[in-house]
Amino acid sequence: MTAAPLPLFSKRPLSPPAAFGGVPLFAERLPIVRPALPDSTELLADYSRLLEAGKLTNGETVRRFEQAAARYLDVPDCVALSSCTSGLILVERCLGLVGRVIVPSFTFFATAHSLLWNGLEPVLVDCDPATWNLDPARVRRALESVPGISAILGVHVFGNPAPVEELETLAGRFGVRLLFDAAHAFGARREGRPVGFGGDAEVFSLSPTKLLVAGEGGLVATRHAELARALRAARNYGDSGDYDCPVLGLNARMTEFQAALALASLPLVDRHVERRHRLAARYEACLAAEPGIALQSIRPQDRSTRKDFSLVIDETRFGATSRLLQSALDQENIQTRRYFDPPLHRQQLYRRFYRPEQDRLSTTAAISRGVLSLPIHPHMSEQDAERIAHRLLEIRNWIQSETASDTRRSENRPLT
Ligand SMILES: *Cc1c(COP(=O)(O)O)cnc(C)c1O
Repeated sequence: MTAAPLPLFSKRPLSPPAAFGGVPLFAERLPIVRPALPDSTELLADYSRLLEAGKLTNGETVRRFEQAAARYLDVPDCVALSSCTSGLILVERCLGLVGRVIVPSFTFFATAHSLLWNGLEPVLVDCDPATWNLDPARVRRALESVPGISAILGVHVFGNPAPVEELETLAGRFGVRLLFDAAHAFGARREGRPVGFGGDAEVFSLSPTKLLVAGEGGLVATRHAELARALRAARNYGDSGDYDCPVLGLNARMTEFQAALALASLPLVDRHVERRHRLAARYEACLAAEPGIALQSIRPQDRSTRKDFSLVIDETRFGATSRLLQSALDQENIQTRRYFDPPLHRQQLYRRFYRPEQDRLSTTAAISRGVLSLPIHPHMSEQDAERIAHRLLEIRNWIQSETASDTRRSENRPLT
């Protein structure tokens, strides 16, 4: 048996990947993410003014940021908080959710942590194999068959807008609340409209790996004036001003410094989303047609933020596992992650909520098994993306030729 001829993907002289004894593609480590921050001069002037005024938290700058964000998102109200996690916890608390809440298993654990902090039970639902977002058909099945559901908590996975309208229809029909973990989605668009309008509330994260950065921070967008009012008390221990808390709150305030950074970052968001799109387009041009590689489908009328650029590797068709690829890329000085593996239903906190008879979560299992998230951020060039994609394919070719020669060796070995 002879090995299939190996296609050449690179016009550069053939040097083996680092995992096969070659030189790493990058001399310095290329991180998977690096925040894009505004110019520091003006920001430092803002910080000086805040220090001189002595108003350090939950003041005028926070209010200005909330207003600017509400204008950008074109929503009636925004409430800034210490994090997306605290925002989700307090929204669920203020809406008075009880019992069970539908949540995808393919998400970051903070989505579901917010439920456990409120004593709510996650109902883990599968995602769509193309978009990797909550599958509305599975959501409907859960609503029809699981008693005691009070809400759906959707996620815009990697910034790809979730099927907001279909979920709103379902929430209306079954009389449940609808929230979104929009941690990845500041700057995303649904049919041209900024993501943030959906359901009862959408909660963004402003932590350093996200699109709009405050250092740490969260932002709730909502059309309900009453919910916004309740949240403003809840983030301040629950105190609405009379020192007699009607709801259990937290200290989940945003500081003035965080708000100043977020305000200065806001005008940069669209440019950064566009930059990520150019990087993603380079990756796609190199990888989309390769056997065994699946990419996230984004509807042409929507805009993802491309918070992450993830592949799903089908190891049988591709010829290598995503783990092997990850370790080979690590040796090239390319940092990757495997978001989200393990998915919730395989984590020790959430295993007990896995009900295979209700939802087997087989799409989630297949996606998380093969997932590999490549570097994408404004500090890297389009050429970097192209070089990473080519190196990834070269690694695959070397793995395949090694496997083929192993097979040859074992076939030639004399039988004893
Ligand atoms: C980052 C992230 C969070 C948590 O955001 P914090 O602001 O760090 O609390 C929640 N959900 C998802 C999907 C995330 O990626």
